[in-house]
Amino acid sequence: MTLPLLDGIGRRIEYLRVSVTDRCNFRCLYCMPVEGLPWLARETLLGDDEIVEVVRQLAPLGLRRIRITGGEPTLRPALVALVARMRDAAALDDVSLSTNGVRLPAMARALRDAGVDRVNVSVDSLRTERVAAIARRSLAFDPITALDAALDAGFEPVKVNVVVLRGVNDDEIASLAALTLERAVHVRFIELMPVGDSHGAGPEHFVAADEIAERIEQVHGALIDAIAPRRGNGPARYRAIAGARGTIGFITPMSHTYCDSCNRVRLTADGRLRTCLFGEHEVDLRTPLRAGEALAPYVHAALRDKPRAHELLQLRTGGLVALSQTGG
Ligand code: SAM
Repeated sequence: MTLPLLDGIGRRIEYLRVSVTDRCNFRCLYCMPVEGLPWLARETLLGDDEIVEVVRQLAPLGLRRIRITGGEPTLRPALVALVARMRDAAALDDVSLSTNGVRLPAMARALRDAGVDRVNVSVDSLRTERVAAIARRSLAFDPITALDAALDAGFEPVKVNVVVLRGVNDDEIASLAALTLERAVHVRFIELMPVGDSHGAGPEHFVAADEIAERIEQVHGALIDAIAPRRGNGPARYRAIAGARGTIGFITPMSHTYCDSCNRVRLTADGRLRTCLFGEHEVDLRTPLRAGEALAPYVHAALRDKPRAHELLQLRTGGLVALSQTGG
């Protein structure tokens, strides 16, 4: 008999974030060094069969939801076929994808047809030149094209992730919030996390969620309480501009932690199961997987030690240098 996925303090784990690549076509100044990171060696990466096998083995333990992430997941060759196979491997309630959106206009419909239910698109600016400056890439990318491609393809909900950086994009808080007026999108403002070395962003760039909310209210009037978009129920608190089609969320890893209700674990692109984004606890699943062993004992062992809470406020990041390494 298999045991359900409970961690050492009784949190039920039903959500797996699968990083399908550690590579990214952006070098966001708060995420990665401009020169990139030493990428994982190809032979260490889980192949499609191996990722599908992890999903197949975790499903009977209570896995209900998967988020496909990275790095930039749309860079993985044959991602669409992989998604379809993950869907076939388990009866999942929900499959979602996090992306910077660059490849969405070309891929949205195929991803939707393959079984991705919903997408989160990272949009830190609505100005093409500023997107390129934050991503530190010469790009001429208008993120609105990605949002509209996602809406047209029928993802539901479509969420927009914004990392607010003082002096870099905080002058766009109100205009990013205004995306919810015309479009049924859910804009979530994420507090900057001090991951690893600070690359291009530091404490001087941090803006707390309460200040972000105030700055939206100065332009759009008092925010009203809103119910969370239909799926997901992640850590965001939701509000809305009166009369808007979408909602506004605040993800507050720094000012209001939500570790008590954490229901997730992460699979890195090279097959490590990481039980806290910022904890050092991880268990190698690739070796047992390649040896044909059952994964359940390794997964249960990893969960016993899932940290009660992250220690970001004490600036401990569990050795993480960039969120791209674990699938943020
Ligand atoms: N490439 C995909 C994307 O752009 O969404 C998935 C990976 S990315 C690491 C996931 C999310 O982490 C993005 O929304 C990104 O903005 C966020 N992120 C990365 N570093 C962060 C940091 N230091 N603080 C807050 N959010 C961060």
